Amino acid sequence: METILRIAVQKKGRLSEKTQDLLKLCGLDLNGGGAQLKIKASNFPLEVLFLRDDDIPGYVSNGVADIGVVGENVADEKGYKVDLVHRLGFAKCRLSIAIPRRFEYEGTEYLNNKRIATSYPNILQKYLDKKGVNAQVNEISGSVEIAPAIELADAVCDIVSTGSTLLANGLKEVESFYKSEAILISSPELSKEKKDILDKLMFRIKSVQKAKKSKYIVLNAPNNKVKEIATYLPGMKSPTVTPLAEEGWSSMSSVINEDDFWDICEKLHGAGAEGILVMPIEKSIY
Ligand code: ATP
Ligand code: MG
Repeated sequence: METILRIAVQKKGRLSEKTQDLLKLCGLDLNGGGAQLKIKASNFPLEVLFLRDDDIPGYVSNGVADIGVVGENVADEKGYKVDLVHRLGFAKCRLSIAIPRRFEYEGTEYLNNKRIATSYPNILQKYLDKKGVNAQVNEISGSVEIAPAIELADAVCDIVSTGSTLLANGLKEVESFYKSEAILISSPELSKEKKDILDKLMFRIKSVQKAKKSKYIVLNAPNNKVKEIATYLPGMKSPTVTPLAEEGWSSMSSVINEDDFWDICEKLHGAGAEGILVMPIEKSIY
């Protein structure tokens, strides 16, 4: 019987779209999505389970799923024994403590004897213990930001990305103590066959991630500047140089890191490059 790797992903929410995009970019054909909660890829030994994100660490830990994509915050909060395979670089957010705007905050001592509402009691408690703060942690599962306004709590600890939800609820962020992003986790006990499939999937994921950071660049250069311009284009090996129909000019192409893009462009321009084109790369295998 064919071995199939089972991956648990969020059905609907802030992780789901990016997770499915990633699987698609990895070349997995997952037709039949939508209402179906279990889909087998038609061209790769992978089955996808669509779940609430809260359930993913538990299912990966007990082997219902072999691997899963979940926020690091949820994996940590649940505390199940799972292995961190890879950081995926999306769904970046932080856990912060916020208090009503009208109060002065001078440090973590403020939180002593206060009631803090959160969906992340374990992560929060660990932080409070580290700071030697003695507060009352109240677990609530959603709409945490409303807790102070309805006198359910004096402070909240919740996920923040831009801070606009806090602001809208009259709160201000006073401590930011935990950073999270989407991670790929795996069951600590995978068979050799399943590990092999995971390795293949990881090879694809890394290629997709590498490509995302790279840009393909093409430009025209006067022949007497080709050598200088080549030093600005690190590329995978060295830039490709082809003569243009116009006498004395060449076309050069290479791959550059997105972060270096503006720096490199200035140098290219300064060296006399013209018609600089930059294009996205879908996959990158070196
Ligand atoms: P579910 O219905 O599956 O239980 P949920 O409501 O618990 O979903 P989401 O709001 O979809 O969870 O968030 C999923 C994960 O995305 C969070 O655990 C966190 O890691 C990350 N996340 C949450 N909010 C943001 C944000 N504003 N920006 C970026 N990432 C976020
Ligand atoms: Mg959830």
